[in-house]
Amino acid sequence: MRHGGTYCTNSVTTLAKPLKDGACREMIALVSKHAQTRKTRDAKLGAARYVCSTCSSDEVYIDVTRGEVICSNCGLVLSDHSIDMGPEWRAFTADEQNARQRVGGPTDWSKFDQGLTTIIGRQNVDASGRKLTSTRRAQIHRLRKWQIRTKVHSSDKRNLAVAMTELHRISSQLSIPYSIRETSAVIYRKALRKRLTRGRTILGMIAASLYLACRVHQVPRPLEEVCDQIHITRKELSLCVRLILRYLNLKIPHSNPVEFVHRFGTELGLPGDAKKAAIDILEKAREERLTIGKDPKGMAAAAIYVASILTGQRRTQLEIARTARVTEVTVRNRYKEMVERLGITTT
Ligand SMILES: [Zn+2]
Repeated sequence: MRHGGTYCTNSVTTLAKPLKDGACREMIALVSKHAQTRKTRDAKLGAARYVCSTCSSDEVYIDVTRGEVICSNCGLVLSDHSIDMGPEWRAFTADEQNARQRVGGPTDWSKFDQGLTTIIGRQNVDASGRKLTSTRRAQIHRLRKWQIRTKVHSSDKRNLAVAMTELHRISSQLSIPYSIRETSAVIYRKALRKRLTRGRTILGMIAASLYLACRVHQVPRPLEEVCDQIHITRKELSLCVRLILRYLNLKIPHSNPVEFVHRFGTELGLPGDAKKAAIDILEKAREERLTIGKDPKGMAAAAIYVASILTGQRRTQLEIARTARVTEVTVRNRYKEMVERLGITTT
């Protein structure tokens, strides 16, 4: 370790003793002078968090290149394991700097190891393509075996590995976009850490985290749709959903009937003007406080029904109820309320 070029030592313990002689004072002065010039940079790194354990000074100097935090008063190295927040790649020319090239894919929460895995190939050839000798081959075989064993060693890791594979399968089945898949992976990981997955099926918990992630991103999928696609019962899914909601502090926006209009409208083959009319009706209904405490799917279904009549592209209550996965009675009741309270004539 060398600070300011005045002394050199390799251990933290020698530095831990308060320094008293003139030479050290000189060194400290140098260090603090150096620290002054980089004050703004250090401020960003949160220098205020460090307080010296021997002299209680909070004046510290952070050596970014060495990853060390040093007390500027007595010279004690407070930490030598600072995390470098900079890029992990190196660039030697401006072109390289701009390209920001790196090896491997981006980290991905929906892979059990976040995509940061090491794979030992099965080819048994070296870097230049030559066959390995038999001793070397046996060594690589053992390495490969232990690599696989250490990758998923705990039961939590194994659970996560299975769950993330399921997540990929289900999300492609439901055409869930990447961002929502990432969110659901994070929800699942939190649930796993809080031991909520105990006694529940992996499939159920994955479906629940997907369903909740869709709601977080405000592109809700009906619970029933998720159930149908991945063959679990509604009871199982809603149980998992409630479990996650109870123990994880998720901020889920209230689902808005408007979010369903586009999906249902498209499934019913309604054009843009009908969807627009339905959204307008829902806006009015919200102003009239009609939507409070009502199932958003039912509200959306009723608004679509009214809009389909108003725009002359009538769909039956049964058709709409089936698309929205609510009962015909719900559509009829919501429709009656809407027509009465908003004074719409549909004849
Ligand atoms: Zn100190």
